[in-house]
Parts: sequence; structure tokens; C-alpha cells
Amino acid sequence: MALPGLVRSVSEGTSPHWICDEMLGKLARYLRFLGYDVEYAQGLRDTEIRERARRDGRRLVTRDVLLARRTPGAILLHRLEVEGQLRELSRAFPGLSREVRFVHCSVCNGRLVEADRSLPVPPRGVPEDRWASGEPVYSCERCGQAYWEGGHTREIRETISRALGAPPGTETGSEEER
Ligand SMILES: [Zn+2]
Repeated sequence: MALPGLVRSVSEGTSPHWICDEMLGKLARYLRFLGYDVEYAQGLRDTEIRERARRDGRRLVTRDVLLARRTPGAILLHRLEVEGQLRELSRAFPGLSREVRFVHCSVCNGRLVEADRSLPVPPRGVPEDRWASGEPVYSCERCGQAYWEGGHTREIRETISRALGAPPGTETGSEEER
């Protein structure tokens, strides 16, 4: 259910849908920034994680060897830090997106919608100057978290570029790192 004053996002999410185990909360947030629908399996037992993966058609990403072995299509990761995890995941799944997209809320996985410009006041959490600039602002349908291009998304892009390389058609990658 959309909150009042929000219009539907036109962009569709990226396939496949994922489910990340409890040890991969940061990776789950990064995958959402990449446009993916990602369930974070916090507080779930292994049997529940396997059932949700099967029922919802989600691919499991896990650091748990046994859980990976028992879940069809699961991807087992070993690294502790998110850059290494993104790299491992892209090796196992070469089609992994490298492009930041405002489709899913990084906090709760809700759908993002572009905020309605006819509103007199910005959505909660959006600075007045950002709202006044006319640049797109997005809001989560579920939790209301606001998103816009800024320092935070620049950091996310830099981390993704370091891990996976810059997306095609962009010049954000640094030469020295190659
Ligand atoms: Zn949200």
C-alpha cells in the first residue's frame, strides 16, 4: 500500500531474488542498493531459511557450509568483509549487477517510489535544500526511509567499484586500482 503523496516507481527490480543468512546483513543492504529484492534471514532457523528460499524462489547466499550444502542453488561465501563477499558472489554468479538503483529499501527491502514533487514539504529525513534542488528523491513504501543521490550513495558506489569494477558506460573507476 503506497503512502499518500507518493507515485509508483517505474523501474523494476533485478533478478534473481536473494535470501541472505544472518551473517550477511551488510551484503544484504548492498544487494538491495544494486536493485535486488533481498530477504535478510535474521532469527530464522535453517529449515525456515530453506523453506523460504524454496517457497519464494530466492537464491540463498550463506557463510554456513552445511546450510549451503542442503539448499539447492545456494552460494557459499567465505570472506568476512563486504567487498570480498561481493567479489565471491560475482564469481559464483557472473551476471551480478554493478549499478546502484533506487528500487528496494536497503533497510527493510520495501519498494521505493519517487516522491511527489507537488508536496509542499519534503518526505521525512530529506533536507530542505535537496528537496528544493528538484533532483529525484525516493521513499520506501513500507518504512518511509528516504533516498537520494549524495555522499552516502557515492560511498556505496565506490565500494562496489572496488569490489566489482565500475559498471559499463561509467567513468567512476580509478585507474590506479586496475
Ligand atoms: Zn524501508
